[in-house]
Amino acid sequence: MRIFLLFLLLSSLFLTAGSFAAGQVQGQNQTVYSLGISGIAWDRTTLKILLVTPNNVSWWNPIYVNSTLRAIGQWNDAISEFASNYSDYSYLSNLRFEPFVLNYTEPGFDIYLNWTQTNLAGSSDEIGLATLTTESNAIIGCTINLATHTSHDEPLIDGDMQNVALHELGHSLGLGHSNDTGDVMFPDIALLGPAKSVSTLDMYGVATTFAWMTNQFDFYPVSDWLRGDPIVLPSNIQYSYLPVSPQNARPDTLENNTIYQNAIIFFELLLHPEIFAVILVVAALLVIIALIVRKSTQPPKADS
Ligand SMILES: [Zn+2]
Repeated sequence: MRIFLLFLLLSSLFLTAGSFAAGQVQGQNQTVYSLGISGIAWDRTTLKILLVTPNNVSWWNPIYVNSTLRAIGQWNDAISEFASNYSDYSYLSNLRFEPFVLNYTEPGFDIYLNWTQTNLAGSSDEIGLATLTTESNAIIGCTINLATHTSHDEPLIDGDMQNVALHELGHSLGLGHSNDTGDVMFPDIALLGPAKSVSTLDMYGVATTFAWMTNQFDFYPVSDWLRGDPIVLPSNIQYSYLPVSPQNARPDTLENNTIYQNAIIFFELLLHPEIFAVILVVAALLVIIALIVRKSTQPPKADS
């Protein structure tokens, strides 16, 4: 029911600001971060998620299972941390993702996560998509699709896959987009960017969509207690990132090293004959200009 676009970029040098669902509120020169809420909610507290790995395909890299399991673990970490830090939302301690991995699909799961090689939904920039099935504003199922390659056919690195999975898992919980460029739920992502963390705003959004867990009101009708309006943090909660346990943190591997990855892209660009030729021409022009400038600024010889 919702299609989300993650903007694709070759390096973290650029971050394109795109449209976002949440409204940006300005006050006293300070941006108030807000988060879209879809107005739909799960009626259960254990979300069984099946990771379906592809069989016998050349483009598949099994490391993506680890990237995605860490993203699931990051959400579970954030949920427990938020529930224990803020007593008003301690009910969230009963909420969790329960992951399973199979190389085939079978019924009985709340969320299905699949990988495809190419970009999704006909858009060259879309690398993640969460599709929710609802009934009377209750979420009854979710399918997440993650692309393993960019539209330039570059495979995603481990850390990028974790960031993209983290974002789509947020949608699976009923969250929309955030207006904070650093937030997990910001709609665009810079590839080869830093590891993302779930924020208190994201968790406050989760607390809002699972508010029925307080048992103070009935789940149905959902529209009585949950509106599809953007939310902002209440004054007693500061915007911050929730800690990630070591086993769910992005591993410090060469593949995840952004300097190394950017250097590879730079040298790959140099290998293109047309780009190399342009660089040679520019370099030659610079040398000629330098020589001309040097000649014209030489002091006149003194008379003997
Ligand atoms: Zn999105």
